[in-house]
Amino acid sequence: MHLARFPRIFLAHLPTPLERLDRLTKELGGPEIWIKRDDCTGLSTGGNKTRKLEFLMAEAEAMGADMVMTQGATQSNHARQTAAFASKLGMKCHVLLEDRTGYQDHNYNDNGNVLLDHLHGATTEKFPGGHDMPGEMEKAAEAARKNGNVVYVIPGGGSNATGALGYANCAMELLNQVNERGLVVDHLVHATGSSGTQAGLVVGLKALNANIPLLGFGTRAPQEKQEQMVYDLAVKTAEKIGCPGVVARQDVRADTNYVGEGYGLPREDTIEAIRMFAELEGILLDPVYSGKGAAGLIDYCRKGKFKKGERVVFLHTGGAAGLFAYDTVLARDTTQMAAE
Ligand SMILES: *Cc1c(COP(=O)(O)O)cnc(C)c1O
Repeated sequence: MHLARFPRIFLAHLPTPLERLDRLTKELGGPEIWIKRDDCTGLSTGGNKTRKLEFLMAEAEAMGADMVMTQGATQSNHARQTAAFASKLGMKCHVLLEDRTGYQDHNYNDNGNVLLDHLHGATTEKFPGGHDMPGEMEKAAEAARKNGNVVYVIPGGGSNATGALGYANCAMELLNQVNERGLVVDHLVHATGSSGTQAGLVVGLKALNANIPLLGFGTRAPQEKQEQMVYDLAVKTAEKIGCPGVVARQDVRADTNYVGEGYGLPREDTIEAIRMFAELEGILLDPVYSGKGAAGLIDYCRKGKFKKGERVVFLHTGGAAGLFAYDTVLARDTTQMAAE
């Protein structure tokens, strides 16, 4: 894996820390739990999209783009990190936001990530749920080109083979960290969505022959669809980095039992996970992704699927900026607090 062959703009704060979660480990009484802090990548409150954008934005710059365009859900962390990266490079940024939750309240629609998109100077355009977002983006890009802009279009979540390079790199970074510290890792888990994170990780882990099983906890699609999406992108990413065929279909595993009602709709176990990380470890998760991933992790520990004597690494993909959009869901009932 020779990633220096690909254009990259070094902007993320790397390597991200790898820390042991002593109090969560003790509370659950199972495996030793570690966290890889990709919530600390440094760009506009951080998150996993920054690693992908290092490669994507380098391509944009190489083609002489003066504008980037992308799409996501209203509270897209990807949109926020893209807007921030574009600011740094002096590019315009336009994002198309899809309403995937139906939440009507002010904070969901204008606070959190949306507030930050606008602070970074991005323009936003809203669409109802179920819209053909890639199609809309192509139309918007065409219109901007007619106005004389050189537009670089980034797919939702930054998930293509270029973006996934960022997570092949993360696999290498993590493997170096655990090797240097003498830590044997039995499981690596994280929240999976548009698939670039898991695809990049699985390619990196397999190309390095790390022998660390990877599991994505789903946040949107059903299992078969999620795994196929990750696998398809992993195949393309492996070809791009010169290791075709390195990932087998059975290397791609997703558990989608923690999604609940749908994308962006937290359930009780999502909120419990957010509270546990906040109260036991002082770490902020989010209601859309990392909270669902952590709910899966916690349940696996409780059910003995991850065992005492094993070591699990939870990749924290970020998202805390979205907490402020979910205040109505997260606000703790004060009568309940008094009773506790
Ligand atoms: C986008 C995102 C994910 C999912 O990553 P994908 O590469 O889209 O699968 C997980 N966590 C957070 C906080 C995200 O913003």
